[in-house]
Amino acid sequence: MASVIYCDSLWSGADIVTMRGGHYHTISDGVIAVHDGKIIWIGTRAALPAVRASREMTFPGGIITPGLIDCHTHLVFGGDRSSEFEQRLNGVSYAEIAAQGGGIISTVNATRQTSEDELLEQALFRIKPLLAEGVTCLEIKSGYGLSLQSELKMLRVARRLGEMLPVEVKTTCLAAHALPSEYANRADDYIDLVCNTIIPQVAEAGLADAVDAFCEHLAFSPTQVERVFHAAKTAGLPIKLHAEQLSSLGGSTLAARHHALSADHLEYATEQDAQAMAASGTVAVLLPGAYYMLRETQCPPVALFRHYRVPMALASDANPGTSPALSLRLMLNMACTLFRMTPEEALAGVTCHGAQALGVQETQGTLEVGKLANWVHWPLSRPAELSYWLGGQLPATVVYRGEVRP
Ligand SMILES: [Zn+2]
Repeated sequence: MASVIYCDSLWSGADIVTMRGGHYHTISDGVIAVHDGKIIWIGTRAALPAVRASREMTFPGGIITPGLIDCHTHLVFGGDRSSEFEQRLNGVSYAEIAAQGGGIISTVNATRQTSEDELLEQALFRIKPLLAEGVTCLEIKSGYGLSLQSELKMLRVARRLGEMLPVEVKTTCLAAHALPSEYANRADDYIDLVCNTIIPQVAEAGLADAVDAFCEHLAFSPTQVERVFHAAKTAGLPIKLHAEQLSSLGGSTLAARHHALSADHLEYATEQDAQAMAASGTVAVLLPGAYYMLRETQCPPVALFRHYRVPMALASDANPGTSPALSLRLMLNMACTLFRMTPEEALAGVTCHGAQALGVQETQGTLEVGKLANWVHWPLSRPAELSYWLGGQLPATVVYRGEVRP
């Protein structure tokens, strides 16, 4: 006797781009059965067994992709830096802007002075466009507080966003982002505060899912970053690293040695870095928005990552200074145009590899049995169109945990 599948909902009418193994793996005229917010069956209509569904939903053609994952954002911050952007284009130098208290320190001051509710309100303005284009999971970093109270405040805002919106928010403590002005010339003392106070208390409060740091001449040295990694390990938190964005300091090899989930930016990563990352399964998170805004000329070594099979993720890096990006889909086009990634690699970068960069690949990032029923239906004929169209809001139907998201 043939067994019958009982499910909450049955979805059909579109081609399903599963992204299994980082490839399209498209199921033509596919069917998905969902129960308790998870996929319990997926395949072709012809292979569908006997099924009883409480609801049946039929799409009028088009394609279904996994829900998009933005694995690197700084969405919570006070103020914005559009006036600096305008000043620079009117010929005011970086030095003059810095002398006026501009740059990252202006965002730190604004974030410290802004109330938790107001930070939430401002972040909602930025997160909504991402959700409208199909993001079902995103990461939000702290790093503009740079004091215990302000870092906790930022992370609480990030957690609240995840509680109030139909999207999964992973939070990352980036207290080692920049040196606050009250610690000028005392970077090691600040790292003491990060390692001995901020990370333990953030972990104790359950406010962070990972710890990140910025390894660069204008931020922290590999030795200081390694201390942050040890503190994260003691607190039981996985690590990530901003590395090799402006110079080669070996941060990504260091991150790989500590089994980081990801190393991010990587314009100056070397062959040795790529080999180390491949060996440890560390994801290369590429951020074309920052590359574009800074008008960088050195591309991340995509060919090396491809050669050594380092998974490549893509993210918006949404932040007030170097990537005020409110579209993840625009990053797909930029990654293809600027970094010469293929549209298939770009889509993997915001689905399965984005999931891996956040450590959620067991439940998200591909459309397979056992994974969360998070996907986007697009009125498109080919997945490459997601990288091809230059921004714009495509009319996407987003399904989050088995329900159409309003
Ligand atoms: Zn960043």
